[in-house]
Amino acid sequence: MKEMICPYSWDCGKRFDPIELSKFDYNFLQSAVEKKMTFMIIHCPNCSREFKFDTVQWKADEFGYSNPEHSKKKVKKTTKQLAAVLNKAKIEIPAPYFEYLTSNEFNSQVSVFSDEEDFILYDLHELCEKVKVDGKLYFTISQLKGFTQTLLEVIGDDLPNTQYLQYKTLADCLTIGYENTRILYIDNSDHHSVRIFHPDGGDIEETGMVCDEIINRKKQVFEIIDQCTCKNSMKKLFFLFTIIVSSMSYAQKKTGGDLWSGSYVVTSKNENQHADTDTLIIAKTADADPDKIPAKYESDLARWTLTSAKGGDKEKQIVNRFLFDIKNKKDAYAEFGWTDLHKSGKMNCIDGGHFFICQTEPNTEVRFNKEEKFFTKTGIFGIWLHYGLVELEKIK
Ligand SMILES: [Zn+2]
Repeated sequence: MKEMICPYSWDCGKRFDPIELSKFDYNFLQSAVEKKMTFMIIHCPNCSREFKFDTVQWKADEFGYSNPEHSKKKVKKTTKQLAAVLNKAKIEIPAPYFEYLTSNEFNSQVSVFSDEEDFILYDLHELCEKVKVDGKLYFTISQLKGFTQTLLEVIGDDLPNTQYLQYKTLADCLTIGYENTRILYIDNSDHHSVRIFHPDGGDIEETGMVCDEIINRKKQVFEIIDQCTCKNSMKKLFFLFTIIVSSMSYAQKKTGGDLWSGSYVVTSKNENQHADTDTLIIAKTADADPDKIPAKYESDLARWTLTSAKGGDKEKQIVNRFLFDIKNKKDAYAEFGWTDLHKSGKMNCIDGGHFFICQTEPNTEVRFNKEEKFFTKTGIFGIWLHYGLVELEKIK
């Protein structure tokens, strides 16, 4: 067998012939080689410490001991090195603030609202430390990217342009401090305004300050605080929450009118079924004749026709809304556990016999009886017997 090298190079690192191993380790190594083991623990015959060995690569590695030189406390980076780190990451701190951060004037405590806890400003070292947001690492200073990234990825395509730009802008804003979970940041795109981001609701709060006022506050700190009465002017960015709320009221408003008429593109949500997309046309039609339908349907006579572009007119279906007649204990939403959703206007369905179509809010996780769930981007989905789940998008 080839020679081995002790991995503890700083105080042993000796080369030796495997035959020098203890009898036990040597036998172990022989069988490990036969089995092509890539992980085993044996002992150096010289320093007697354990180490890992990979018989395929014939390579020893540290196991439980590390170079004491390396574990010496991390040398704090110099300002120059930190500036290089930021530069490499294309993060640009406004020059006056960078100067302030590196000056003796730097005071980490900043009062933004006179009747609230002070905010803490990060120093330059802290700004360059990595922080985990939503599973990914960001520099503390650019952590707002982390808060907007998921949002943009999930619903970015559905956002109106102005909102999309708002998120994009927020992503590039520079975090400078915090108070509890609130994030204090500078908006470079808006004259270095200082604002507060609330990660728990996605709100943006105005402070009425600009970056310069933090830098120069030594002189005028008290006046500024008193001027900051603008905290009630919370500006809501249309984050997920807002979107849900607004589309909810949209659905609520529409339930009175015709929620269904229109054209829809249908795409399959079954992973292994990439069926061609189809277009459905739903149109309001004459109410059902109460004499010609079963009594249980009399509570809701509204009817629509549903035509598939593929099937043509001969496959026109008459559809009705899910029965929801509490007085007579008829509730078609109950079997899915959607009664409350329907009552609050967040779930409306029509029934075509062998299929049904429902509307909820866009970007919603829909649950069937709390067990099965799926995500609908458009908020309109359908279930066809023998076919499965489809997503619909209203195009007209
Ligand atoms: Zn050794």
